[in-house]
Amino acid sequence: MQGKYHVITLCGSTRFKKAFEEANKRLTLEGFIVISVGLYGHSGDREVWEQMDEGTLTRTKEMLDDMHKRKIDMADAIFVINVGGYIGASTASEIAYAVRTGKQVFYLETPADRICPVCGKYYFRERNAYEICPVCGWEDDPVQRREEDLAGGANHESLRDARKNWNDALS
Ligand SMILES: [Zn+2]
Repeated sequence: MQGKYHVITLCGSTRFKKAFEEANKRLTLEGFIVISVGLYGHSGDREVWEQMDEGTLTRTKEMLDDMHKRKIDMADAIFVINVGGYIGASTASEIAYAVRTGKQVFYLETPADRICPVCGKYYFRERNAYEICPVCGWEDDPVQRREEDLAGGANHESLRDARKNWNDALS
């Protein structure tokens, strides 16, 4: 909180520039202090990268990733811009980091059939695509999702056990 305002940090691929701007506007009007990205590496702002040699580019990207984690530190919650369900690798690691550090996580798109059945904190990019949840490590196996007591699918433990272990680890 800052004064009477919750602080929320936007996370997601910078290819979704328009969605970032819309979320920033909407959340600001709803009374949040919004922290966003400083530039859009994947849509516009190309001149930033074109000037850099390989080493500088790598260091700059690392700095931006690290900075964004600090922006999450400053916030009470994150808002994930997952347009079309898309979540890239660095966004996935930001979500995991936010959960680990006790931040609330909100999503632009919240398709009920793609929520992680173990932790409930992550929305898979596609349904039943064996993606691994960056928050709890559950692999999205459609058979194990259907049969909650089935162990030894994509995941060593059954869905029921994984959920129980996740909840136990939290308490
Ligand atoms: Zn999960």
